[in-house]
Amino acid sequence: MTVDAVVDAAADAVEVNTPVEVPEDEPRLPSLSPSRAADFKTCPLLYRFRTVDRLPERPTPDQARGTLVHAVLEKLFDLPAEERTPRAAADLVAPQWERLVEEHPELTDLFTAAPGAADPAAPAGTVASAGTVAPEGTVAPAGSPVEPELADPAGFLESARGLLGGYFAVEDPRRLEPSERECLVEAVVDEQLTIRGYIDRLDISPSGDLRVVDYKTGGAPREAFEARALFQLKFYALVLWRTRGVIPRVLRLLYLRDAEACDYTPDAEELTRFERNLMALWRAIEQATERRDFRPKPSRLCGWCAHQALCPAYGGTPPPYPERPAVADPHVGAPPDDDQLS
Ligand code: SF4
Repeated sequence: MTVDAVVDAAADAVEVNTPVEVPEDEPRLPSLSPSRAADFKTCPLLYRFRTVDRLPERPTPDQARGTLVHAVLEKLFDLPAEERTPRAAADLVAPQWERLVEEHPELTDLFTAAPGAADPAAPAGTVASAGTVAPEGTVAPAGSPVEPELADPAGFLESARGLLGGYFAVEDPRRLEPSERECLVEAVVDEQLTIRGYIDRLDISPSGDLRVVDYKTGGAPREAFEARALFQLKFYALVLWRTRGVIPRVLRLLYLRDAEACDYTPDAEELTRFERNLMALWRAIEQATERRDFRPKPSRLCGWCAHQALCPAYGGTPPPYPERPAVADPHVGAPPDDDQLS
């Protein structure tokens, strides 16, 4: 089976990547997160740029806003149930942003470095310098639309509050008591691969039913990334099934911009098929790595690729293949997931 066939056969998309402490005498298995698997499925060369070359990517206002909104929603559930109001969430935005800027000092120049901000001649709503390499070696996203309200700090914070309004339109957090938030889950499949990811929220009913909830905050058209989102949720469902022996009753995507909830119910047959496809995808990744053969696969998602300038499909030349020993965890130093910072 060709790499493309394997990739096309593997259902939807993926996420997450943080190294987990492993005792020194225990051999480490390679690991895969939904986002990096989705990268390979979307475009093998994109996977190489991010995971093998580990090219830096400048955080975008969209990603920073995603991280901010996730942080606020996580913090919101620290409050007593009756205090989880839209006003309380809005009040958390500024302090959570200050905390993020403290933890990620590079965010201080987010707006001066924002695509479109440095070039007043850039057409409204587009990236100023599509795919050009920034002086510090980072690459601006090419061609992806930029929301005008994200161009300055006040508009940025206000747009985060707007997304939180979308959240309250679909859920009432006063009626929820999440079991876990931002929790790392991982499982070994086929005794050869660790799959892991962070779940935004896990709800467990009194009868033991699991509901996996994922907040989507991105400004990109939802249809462009919907397959990735569903793949990510199936990935989490598989991990939970393998570790807890329970298939989640509901996988819930909350699209905050559209104020819409999409529920999906997986079953054992589907997750078994998904697991097979995931292993096929992993074998394709291993094969590409052995052969150092990561081909570009142009699609509409190229508009959100930070590395167009280096892509042969757009007249670029990839950097020399890095000569370094393979890392046990290919996600160390990898870029952030779809709509958040790392
Ligand atoms: S520009 Fe498109 S084809 Fe090229 S590396 Fe990025 S996603 Fe792949």
